[in-house]
Amino acid sequence: MSQWQEREARVYMQTGRRVPLTIVRGQGLRVWDDEDNSYLDFVGGWAVDTLGHCHPVIVKALEEQGRTLIQTSNQFYTIPQVRLAEILVENSCMSRVYVCNSGAEANEGSVKLARKYGRLNRGGAYEVITALNSFHGRTLAMVAATGQPAHQETYQPIPQGFVNVPYADVDAIRKATSDKTCAVMLEPVQGEAGVIVPPDDYLGQVREWCDEQGLLLIFDEVQTGIGRLGTMFGYEQFGVEPDVMSLAKGLGGGVPIGAFLANEKAAVFEPGDHGSTYGGNPLTCAVAYAVVDHVISDHVLANVRRSGQRLTAGLLDLKERVSFITDVRGRGLLQAIDFDRDLAADALTACLGQGLLVNAPRPNTLRFMPPLVVTEAEVDEALQKLAAALGEIASQMG
Ligand SMILES: *Cc1c(COP(=O)(O)O)cnc(C)c1O
Repeated sequence: MSQWQEREARVYMQTGRRVPLTIVRGQGLRVWDDEDNSYLDFVGGWAVDTLGHCHPVIVKALEEQGRTLIQTSNQFYTIPQVRLAEILVENSCMSRVYVCNSGAEANEGSVKLARKYGRLNRGGAYEVITALNSFHGRTLAMVAATGQPAHQETYQPIPQGFVNVPYADVDAIRKATSDKTCAVMLEPVQGEAGVIVPPDDYLGQVREWCDEQGLLLIFDEVQTGIGRLGTMFGYEQFGVEPDVMSLAKGLGGGVPIGAFLANEKAAVFEPGDHGSTYGGNPLTCAVAYAVVDHVISDHVLANVRRSGQRLTAGLLDLKERVSFITDVRGRGLLQAIDFDRDLAADALTACLGQGLLVNAPRPNTLRFMPPLVVTEAEVDEALQKLAAALGEIASQMG
């Protein structure tokens, strides 16, 4: 254990299990630990480091804005906030933006918007239907929205107003709808659940149901937004436009930022309804603008599709050769493999030994979410390291 890990154990709240690795610097797809070992990073700050580590576009925006203006409060107008809102509106189906600081906060804002909409248009309806095994964040309300009992039990009583139903089951949404329902909130592809891609027609059917019933459709695009699936937003993959969409993770490329966006029908906030001290501050907005602009102007989406296809092909090839891989799935640069038993923790450790960082969202699932600028050569390198790691595991099995 390195000295930093011992020191952390003494002073930091122990809220999760960490990989025994202290990362001190990063560049592009690589990070280095405190003993100067390097690793190829297919976690990417948890699907956050859109342009890789310390990309010049991000560093420049941070430096320039850091010298110019960092925080003003939302009592005043600032230029980076307006520019970020404009580029998001111009490149999405949405017409208004509110910028906050994280994914959970973006979802909270989306739900507040939906409750206000229900009050105005649906006789005070306030309930939001969400999916089991979803992930919407760690605030108390988002723990209630997140359909995972493990996240809820410790924190009872959790806020009311959420109904969790099975994912990819439109009938379950129909049955759960009542006079109290104001919205349905879904991830277009479930990320934390282990990269669950719904059947092609699911989101379209949910859209139809919401239209029939006068419900808002909210997409939590915190993980899928800003190019992760090979299109700017996940909804484009399914040809279904939500009324409200939350973003975070990839939006800032590493700086803490979130946003929720709404179409004109759903944008019902009036002055006094919502606010944030840091939300939309010049520093994070300038960086997010630079990230979004670079994704668009540098054709990063084409790279996501190209490198994503290479990753899929490589994983499928590995599945042919490794008997205990049972599934390969995902879109763009959000992909996962399943094992026939709970090998993910061992596989993660073996990958670490090979110099590859991966994530294990479930005991039998490994997830890959590298920066969107990953090259095909880096994908090949990751696949080689993964193959070597799984080879070690196979030989331990005897
Ligand atoms: C990560 C994530 C969140 C929570 O974002 P935070 O910034 O950690 O609050 C919410 N929804 C989805 C789909 C996520 O992947």
